[in-house]
Amino acid sequence: MSRVPFTGFASEPPELTARLVDAARSVVDSHHYVLGSQVEAFESRWASACGVSECIGVANGLDAIEIILRSMGIGAGQEVITSPMTAVATILGIIRAGATPVLADIDPDTALLDPASVQRCITEKTAAVLLVHLYGQVRNMRAWGDICDAAGIALIEDCAQSHTASEAGTVSGAFGVAGAFSFYPTKNLGALGDAGAIVTASTELAQQARQLRNYGQSNRYEHPLIGLNSRLDEMQAAILNARLDYLPEFTARRREVARRYRESISNPHVTLLAPEMTPEQHVYHLFVITTPHREALMAHLDSRGVDSLIHYPISAHRHESLDWLRTDPNGLKNAEKHADTCLSLPCHPQLTDDQIQRVINAVNSFSVT
Ligand SMILES: *Cc1c(COP(=O)(O)O)cnc(C)c1O
Repeated sequence: MSRVPFTGFASEPPELTARLVDAARSVVDSHHYVLGSQVEAFESRWASACGVSECIGVANGLDAIEIILRSMGIGAGQEVITSPMTAVATILGIIRAGATPVLADIDPDTALLDPASVQRCITEKTAAVLLVHLYGQVRNMRAWGDICDAAGIALIEDCAQSHTASEAGTVSGAFGVAGAFSFYPTKNLGALGDAGAIVTASTELAQQARQLRNYGQSNRYEHPLIGLNSRLDEMQAAILNARLDYLPEFTARRREVARRYRESISNPHVTLLAPEMTPEQHVYHLFVITTPHREALMAHLDSRGVDSLIHYPISAHRHESLDWLRTDPNGLKNAEKHADTCLSLPCHPQLTDDQIQRVINAVNSFSVT
């Protein structure tokens, strides 16, 4: 029997593949490859999808974070509090902006930042909280807004996993000052290579970001800022424009996969993360469980033809390159435990009903000898 793969690229609808080829062809024929009509169209569509006025296409999610911080004037001598349970790019973006990351602990029920731990990390140097909507979940955003307002610090969102997740009518990326998106191929909306974007309601921030992504240029050959080259190219923008048409349908299917897992996974050795309060809050970039017997469960799933991966096996403060970072004075116990016990099951729009059932059966038949 064939395997249940972790990603669905090999079984995407043929119409979608045809759309991608047409999109690429149209860029080749346009003879315009950087910052053109495809990028403009995508920026305008993605701003609307997020419910904000401004979207700036950039080269990747890491750059999006760096450019947001630099556009806000956050840098040397200032601290940005974030989660150690994230893609390392979240933390690298802060460092690249010249600011100092500070790591707070997570809530073990959701793997999202714990507000009490964030409060313990706030100092007079804190400029912002960079909230990671991990696995695609957007939760308690009213409370996060209140915490940041009370402390006089900015709320910035890492939306690399939460495309179009929303709470009380506000879409991820529109809660804080700005949101950073990645369109790495495996994200819910993915290019055929690297791509990213910044969304914001601030025209000033958007103007700074547009200059920074393009050598710090204001008008041709005028460079008021020390910028970088982080332009979204026409080829990737054309691919994103084609894929964006499929995003609502694909997101609905991810939610359906997750609904079936939640309904039917039942094993005393396996714990699910806390369910979302409303379906809109979660776009299920990843479906993550925890188990104290991770290696054995992975081997069992593998023997049943089910792929699984770990997001993330190492809490950020345990990377050799990041062991100097300041953390919650109470430590990062929950993040360390989550890193040791979390496991991601296949969760993508191309899973068939039969494959979903195979994953469920494989998890439920696991026992510890
Ligand atoms: C993927 C990801 C990033 C980095 O995005 P790139 O486009 O790969 O630079 C940042 N944060 C999170 C949470 C991610 O999942």
